[in-house]
Amino acid sequence: MKWIAFVLLLVPGWLTPSLRAQDPLLTTDRAPTPTQHRVVPAAAYPTYGVYEAILYELARRYPDRCRVEVWGTLPSGRRILALKLTQGIRQERARPQVLCTAAMHGDELAGYWVLLRLAEDLLTNDEGGLLEQTVIYINPLANPDGAYAAGDYSLAAARRGNANGVDLNRNYPDPDDGRFPDGNAHQPETRIFMRAAERRSFDLGINFHGGAELFNYPWDTFRTRHPDTDWWRKVSREFAQRAQHDGPGGTYFKDRSNGVTNGHDWYPIAGSRQDYMNYYHRTREATVEITNAKRLPAAELPTLWTSIRRALLGYLREATYGIHGTVTDRVTGRPVLAHLTIPGHDQMQSSVYSSAAFGDFYRYLAPGTYRLQVSAPGYRSRSLIVTLADKQRRYLHVVLERDSDLVPARKK
Ligand SMILES: [Zn+2]
Repeated sequence: MKWIAFVLLLVPGWLTPSLRAQDPLLTTDRAPTPTQHRVVPAAAYPTYGVYEAILYELARRYPDRCRVEVWGTLPSGRRILALKLTQGIRQERARPQVLCTAAMHGDELAGYWVLLRLAEDLLTNDEGGLLEQTVIYINPLANPDGAYAAGDYSLAAARRGNANGVDLNRNYPDPDDGRFPDGNAHQPETRIFMRAAERRSFDLGINFHGGAELFNYPWDTFRTRHPDTDWWRKVSREFAQRAQHDGPGGTYFKDRSNGVTNGHDWYPIAGSRQDYMNYYHRTREATVEITNAKRLPAAELPTLWTSIRRALLGYLREATYGIHGTVTDRVTGRPVLAHLTIPGHDQMQSSVYSSAAFGDFYRYLAPGTYRLQVSAPGYRSRSLIVTLADKQRRYLHVVLERDSDLVPARKK
């Protein structure tokens, strides 16, 4: 109460119809100014307009490593936006692509603020050099119509579904239950995300939810384990351990099996984004529930940030480990779109592809020795044995020969 009064005295312009001292989901509609030290409010959710202004202000301040991407506009006029962060953003380069997204359930709000905070943190203090080594896409608000159901100035009526009341985390094509698993047409938000995933090749992803405190890894729809479950267990355990260590009072992030669960073990669902991304796009994307309270009071956001920061950065760093490489054509040196598979290990679309643009690929695996088979139409396949330790990156440059290169020239 005292703090609010202080703030109002200081900045009378903050007073909006929605800003009530009683509202734990405090929203600020103070637009960022060029002279402010920090753009993201320290302990408040932004209004919708301020949310957009924050993204554009970050891009304006850090033009060499930050850009706003408009992924789509909803019928309401609100937009699905993402920040693209990478050092030297004007030049496309071969780097692993990471997706961070939050609040597809519009009332699970903490992740929305956490991802804004993450963006500013990476831009101002990228101590680990993540932006040198990866491209990070940050979509803080995946369901703006659900979050701002009461209007652009208030989160008071934030709700799970979108404007049509559809649960977006049941609305994706499902590898087991078909293209329309919930019986609804793909919602505008779903179509926007599907298009974003088709146009980029996300290698690693994290999708923040609320209502529990745990790291949920694939699958949701299959009882069968994901072939990379050893890797999932390792990264999810590390995430939980860091969050437990940094959270207050030793009580944070302990749901289910000490903060970790397989999706299907927790409760099977069809049409989840996690399964869609892992199966159809081969992105290692996890669903991470970061707060027991869905509508986390704004005053608790700073503590949440200190609890989860290291866990989150540690997970993002996983994008820089594993088997990385490029596939090129022996004669032309051009990149080759190749299929990289580990025979006897891969199934259910767990193998990966190299990109057509750079021929680069990224495969995240638990420590071990693997036989990686590289194949592409018209080329002779190759097999490589790779041994990988924990937190290690192995870089492979794979050169493929065309089938025709091997045929001896015919005499005339
Ligand atoms: Zn959720």
